[in-house]
Amino acid sequence: MTHSPLVADLRARLGAENVISAPSELAVYDCDAYTVERHRPDVVVLPRSTVQVAEAVKIAGRHNVPVVPRGAGTSLAGGCLPIGGGVVVMLTRMNRIVEVNLHDRMAVVEPGVPNIQLAKRLAGTGYHFAPDPSSQDASTIGGNVATNAGGPHTLKYGVTVNHVLGIEAVLGDGSIIRLGPVENPAELDLTGVMVGGEGTLGIITKVWVRLTPDPQDYRAMRAIFNTLDEAGETVSRIIAAGIIPAAMELMDQGILAAVEEAFGFGFPLDAGAVLVIKVDGPTAGIEIQQRRIVEFCKESGAREVLEATTPQQRETLWKCRKQAVAAVGRLSPSYIIQDGVVPRTRLPHVLRRIAEIGTKHQIRIVNVAHAGDGNVHPILLFDDRDREQVDRALAAGRELLEECIRCGGSVTAEHGIGVEKIDFMERMFSKSDLQAMTYLREAFDPVGRLNPGKLLRNFANTSI
Ligand SMILES: Cc1cc2nc3c(=O)[nH]c(=O)nc-3n(C[C@H](O)[C@H](O)[C@H](O)COP(=O)(O)OP(=O)(O)OC[C@H]3O[C@@H](n4cnc5c(N)ncnc54)[C@H](O)[C@@H]3O)c2cc1C
Repeated sequence: MTHSPLVADLRARLGAENVISAPSELAVYDCDAYTVERHRPDVVVLPRSTVQVAEAVKIAGRHNVPVVPRGAGTSLAGGCLPIGGGVVVMLTRMNRIVEVNLHDRMAVVEPGVPNIQLAKRLAGTGYHFAPDPSSQDASTIGGNVATNAGGPHTLKYGVTVNHVLGIEAVLGDGSIIRLGPVENPAELDLTGVMVGGEGTLGIITKVWVRLTPDPQDYRAMRAIFNTLDEAGETVSRIIAAGIIPAAMELMDQGILAAVEEAFGFGFPLDAGAVLVIKVDGPTAGIEIQQRRIVEFCKESGAREVLEATTPQQRETLWKCRKQAVAAVGRLSPSYIIQDGVVPRTRLPHVLRRIAEIGTKHQIRIVNVAHAGDGNVHPILLFDDRDREQVDRALAAGRELLEECIRCGGSVTAEHGIGVEKIDFMERMFSKSDLQAMTYLREAFDPVGRLNPGKLLRNFANTSI
């Protein structure tokens, strides 16, 4: 079999076993979890070391093709789409936990380590890696860093950027840089810049992550409300009282029906909304926080508040929320999980508007939300075999993001811009904001080799 010069060079330098070029196998990489747009790469490489990543980037440079880094491909914004073809660098074979250093509260990991693998490795040590996106069973630490991932516990513990001490990365010319790892850098904080770069600034090949001490104790509650307004009011009252729960998650009636159909947890199907709330910290004082939260729920109109008393009950409460998206698979062949953020007090309004937008576009929408952060995740249900339904779902998605902007919020809280939201950048940022970001990107990758067409429009020209 003859290979293109690009494929032949990659096979020669990286080994044939680390290169995929058969069209049938490349089909797997033509999209990520944003399935409504597809582009097939010319070739996929699966490097096992930083040096191999650098080799791949240099070869791509010699053949003048783009390079797209990819972790587990759970991006909901099309971040891994190889829109100009080129080389997809799949990082999942770089999956070693290099070091766990409890004295310095730090772990060193390769980018392809799934988030859950690090969680399992740390279980029982008294420490954990705080970012826990709902995709943590699959998504990689490299992907989490590249998207500055959040998750249910972001409310109290912060997003990924707050937990990254250092990064090793390959730049667009194939050079290798190391940023950090230090607690309080005296130099420019380039580590912070690289976090959330969505693969446009460098390919992350090693990460020094901060380890957080496990809380001494925690409590979990579930409150059932007749209306979204009551649930929204509870969220505001809890935060206004100075209580920062470890997590505060909202599920609306639509998602409750799906969860109930799938798993039968016993939710009343006429409930307007459910809040799942967790508080953690020192045992002393935690009961007081729990009591106050229960009071707030009842005062705001909760018709039932369940306080989990056993570890098993607490587990079940979190399982309801964690399984919510999986339950959606039973409702429709395809879905888009949107990601917007609004001031907390605007949550009930925006959820009502989402329902109206769904009706207008005849698209069923169910909602989960990291309510404490004001982060909504409307899930738009449709059938991607029907182009007309796809178009309606995309139009509804755009309209609800516009509503988030109108409410003083933003079009992404944690999933990134990718290709999906690139048109919104000019709505969110001024010309000079975007120019500053462009200068920064040029400093890391002057020719736009890395992940072109993502994040910034003026890098959308894929003919590099
Ligand atoms: C069911 C579901 C639930 C989700 N829940 C959450 C959630 O709670 N919070 C949240 O934040 N996100 C969530 N996501 C979105 C997604 O899981 C996160 O963005 C995650 O961090 C992506 O990790 P990944 O390994 O799959 O990266 P990928 O999808 O492979 O890549 C994502 C982006 O990062 C870049 N990238 C990947 N690896 C590297 C690397 N080593 N170097 C440089 N760039 C790289 C890619 O080019 C792409 O732009 C969810 C997704 C799904 C499907």
